[in-house]
Amino acid sequence: MAQKDNEEKKGPDFGFEKKFSFDIWDDAQTKKAFDFSEGYKDFLTQAKTERLAVKLAEAAAIENGFSKLEHIGESSVAKFPAPLYSINRGRTVVLFSPGKRKVREGLRLVLAHIDSPRLDLKVKPLYESEHLAFWKTHYYGGIKKFHWLAMPLALFGMVAKTDGTKVEIALGDDPKDPVFMISDLLPHLDKMQAEKKLDDAIPAETLNVIIGSTGTKVKDDKDPVKKNLLKLLNEKYGITEEDFVSADLEIVPQGAARDLGFDRSLVAGYGQDDRVCAYAALKALIESQDREYGSMVMLVDKEEIGSVGATSAMSDFIFDFVSELIYLETGTHNENYTRDTLFLSKAVSADVTSGYDPDYAEVFDSLNTARLGAGVALETYTGWGGKYSGSEATAEFTAQIRKMFNDAGVHWQTGGLGKVDQGGGGTLAKYISHMNVDVIDIGVPLFSMHAPFEIASKADIYSAYLACKAFFEAK
Ligand code: MN
Ligand code: MN
Repeated sequence: MAQKDNEEKKGPDFGFEKKFSFDIWDDAQTKKAFDFSEGYKDFLTQAKTERLAVKLAEAAAIENGFSKLEHIGESSVAKFPAPLYSINRGRTVVLFSPGKRKVREGLRLVLAHIDSPRLDLKVKPLYESEHLAFWKTHYYGGIKKFHWLAMPLALFGMVAKTDGTKVEIALGDDPKDPVFMISDLLPHLDKMQAEKKLDDAIPAETLNVIIGSTGTKVKDDKDPVKKNLLKLLNEKYGITEEDFVSADLEIVPQGAARDLGFDRSLVAGYGQDDRVCAYAALKALIESQDREYGSMVMLVDKEEIGSVGATSAMSDFIFDFVSELIYLETGTHNENYTRDTLFLSKAVSADVTSGYDPDYAEVFDSLNTARLGAGVALETYTGWGGKYSGSEATAEFTAQIRKMFNDAGVHWQTGGLGKVDQGGGGTLAKYISHMNVDVIDIGVPLFSMHAPFEIASKADIYSAYLACKAFFEAK
């Protein structure tokens, strides 16, 4: 016992660098971190989908004098260098701010993803059972299915109609809106459910969202509730049952991002993986000054399902955008220029990592896991098992990043996902590294990653912003 008491007094077995930001910072620095989180919470509350995150990024870009590059390959922008942005299919956005040097001398790139785990509607979602109407869902990304039962849910997204028009839907977050729910079994009757493994206890085909319970008044009508719902949807949104085939509709947790704790030092909210890094990177690009190199932020889609598709980090969109910058600078289309530029560029893959949660200490390597509130986490490698399918920064580039952060006074710590045999994961880093770019992972440690409400420290959110800014401003 004596030994244990001693250990508790000493605190956790930290590495050399881990100290808690709010214990070190003066009041002015702490206030800056708290103030930064106010804007962040607004962003998180509004950016419930990747499309909405793109719209918010575009609004911030326009407000700060960025011009839109409409067509990659046939630029309509006459003035260069100038701040530019481009959007890919409404789901990915890339922003560029010029530096003192030419684009061809290399760029500074920060990537983050703006898709988050959620429930998508199936292509044919609507059915009726026991005089209730439901939507069938298909989960997107790594969720724990039990999280999504018996809690208020909101509906966000867009229906693309055959006439080319789009119907935007946002329902659930306004206090006057209805919400949606997936029911759970009462504990009085859950014996069979409770005996199952956690992952098997809730089959994906039971993640069905209740959307209504009133039928048509037509006598002997078949599926009266479904018919009534379709009538309501048609009156309110002008959509038909077939329109769901071409819809991006997402069921997400209802509610705003909130302060957590009496001291308000933490943020609880949906989609912090990875909209926290997206926001930090975007703000850092806009607010960075005296950039030596041209700087870019890329906010991409589809990371949670493996970075596949034209709107993901794997798409040629990024390469083509850099090619376009070089065309604007040199007046020539030459793929080799783009390749040379990427070779001279440096990249940061900004994504969340696990925070050391004392309730689940057994899965973490105490020495090599980031702490909530101890700064932005620097991860020199990712992957699972024997570093499979991850990305590893070179020691040389890691040293450069350490210098950038130390020179700028960025509070950072090292991080890693967990014990080697426990699992692992990858980030966007490997997709940018394919383009022969030096890349390193940094990010904000979270508790409850991928849960409907995730937890981050305001200290780390602010440090992630300062880290991106230091990267953009480094000589
Ligand atoms: Mn992520
Ligand atoms: Mn994730």
